[in-house]
Amino acid sequence: MRLVEDLQMVFPKLDLTPTIESTMIKLAEEVGECSEIVGKVRGMSGEDRKSVLLKLLSRDMGREIAEVMSRQVEIEADALTAITQKYQKLRDRVQAQELGDQEIQARIARELLDVMQTCATFMYQLDVDLDKLLEEHQEKLIRRGYLKQI
Ligand SMILES: [Mg+2]
Repeated sequence: MRLVEDLQMVFPKLDLTPTIESTMIKLAEEVGECSEIVGKVRGMSGEDRKSVLLKLLSRDMGREIAEVMSRQVEIEADALTAITQKYQKLRDRVQAQELGDQEIQARIARELLDVMQTCATFMYQLDVDLDKLLEEHQEKLIRRGYLKQI
């Protein structure tokens, strides 16, 4: 039971009732978000890095506003102002090309965490002996030489 408990400590079972299909769609979505940063923001798609970043910031800002508005009926102007100011500062930094590689890597890491959480959420829905499968997985990694004994 140790490995599953460790997994659940880092990527908990969510208070949701997802289906395998909805989780698969979510996983594809999160992989897409991660790919977008890895490819587009790092200039591998041929698109202008600044335009890509500004688009991503607009989307993030929209999501943050939607989150705030979903928690309340009344529109809280102060909360919207704070979000607007936060994103204006980020947009200014993008314009000035001040957004460094470390911040881009942090964005990639955040998306990877979304991917990992979604993978865990997917796994928890399967009727399998996950501890046994995790042990088999580790044994496979060791057998193939990808990992030394744990
Ligand atoms: Mg995401």
